[in-house]
Amino acid sequence: MTARKRPARRCSWHHCSHPAAATVAFRLPNLLAGSRRDYCATHTSQVRLAEGTVVVARFGPHQPTLPGLPDISAGRRGGPTRGKG
Ligand SMILES: [Zn+2]
Repeated sequence: MTARKRPARRCSWHHCSHPAAATVAFRLPNLLAGSRRDYCATHTSQVRLAEGTVVVARFGPHQPTLPGLPDISAGRRGGPTRGKG
């Protein structure tokens, strides 16, 4: 039972206390198919070695900007709202 919302997720790896850097979704033939887990950068790359793993989200302090992509976050109309909540 979690009464409080945690500001940062933790890596789901055994005994790993690093903050999660990505969400990995599992699909067949992976044994964990249908579930999602958060892992730190190191363990994300490790679980991705297994079949049926897909990174569905990335987060964390480091957000590398992909070259060649327009900076949509700079848009002023209908952009993602952040801040006031
Ligand atoms: Zn980890």
